[in-house]
Amino acid sequence: MFKFFRRPASDPGAETSAGVSQAATSDAVPTASITGSLGKTRGGLFGAVRNLFRTAGTLDAAFWDELEERLIAADVGAHVTADLITELRARDARRAFASGEDAETALRELLEAILARAGDTGLYLPEEGVGVVLVIGVNGTGKTTTVAKLTRYLQLGGRAPFLIAGDTFRAAAIDQLKVWGDRTGATVFAQSPGSDTAAVVFDGIGAAISRGADTIIIDTAGRLHTKTNLMAELEKVRRVIGRRQAGAPHETLLVLDAVTGQNGLIQAKTFMGSVGVTGLVLTKLDSSAKGGVVFAIAEELRLPIKLVGTGERIDDLQPFDPSEFVRALFS
Ligand code: GDP
Repeated sequence: MFKFFRRPASDPGAETSAGVSQAATSDAVPTASITGSLGKTRGGLFGAVRNLFRTAGTLDAAFWDELEERLIAADVGAHVTADLITELRARDARRAFASGEDAETALRELLEAILARAGDTGLYLPEEGVGVVLVIGVNGTGKTTTVAKLTRYLQLGGRAPFLIAGDTFRAAAIDQLKVWGDRTGATVFAQSPGSDTAAVVFDGIGAAISRGADTIIIDTAGRLHTKTNLMAELEKVRRVIGRRQAGAPHETLLVLDAVTGQNGLIQAKTFMGSVGVTGLVLTKLDSSAKGGVVFAIAEELRLPIKLVGTGERIDDLQPFDPSEFVRALFS
């Protein structure tokens, strides 16, 4: 397996870790910086957290209460906030923070630690043979757009994705994927609306292998109103993938919409219960003032956010870098 990690062109500091082969990073993609994409979050509720530290006088009980309120308002989540405040107050009691800035540094460390505990944010694909990425999530979260952006992202790293239109319930979803296929030059395997998804996936993987594709990305349906059927269907799709290609799917990415904030957590738990999710894609970070939800997601689900959607364009997908994210929130 190799870790596919492609930094946005705006950030030249590409990293290479030992034992991890890195995809090409040379082609310049006009990707927005995470700081720019976080404008709504930084200017809004998280900005209030940042400002509290900058204007803090004594770090008394009123200060900690205010910080607690602001973290909850920023969508960091009640549990996570309570734990953060307890830890910060304990540290302050052991060795008093000299200033609001010191307390801010401690909070930043704790926030980064939450993201680190959630796991490795890299995208893992096999070195040999075909890699399979299954993309799941509720309709409207940005699944199909993510499949398209991921196609572009992998293409720029030298891979040749082959797309399977597994959302057979909506003719529009199939058409949408075909349009993205035309724009990216990726082949799209689709059958008529209403076909059995597992059968489409089975045939699609066969077609991809015979064409020598190195990566398959599968779009799926996400109708929440028939939750039980949906989960059963996704389980079946997973089984079929595994039978067709040993070890696959290599990544099962659950797409969550940052605008929905905490509500997305309940959705995510439903998916995690039945389908082996390997990581999250958090979309619409650019439209959300609730970027603080990243911490609630990481702590409550203990799943890494691997990619973030930062707009509606094909290039608006970035690898999630926890340190950079926390730095951007406080910058
Ligand atoms: P699906 O039903 O889950 O497949 O969702 P779609 O891919 O059709 O996306 C739903 C809507 O969200 C579309 O209007 C997309 O353009 C939009 N969208 C998807 N990702 C992002 C993102 O990262 N930022 C913004 N602003 N919009 C997005």
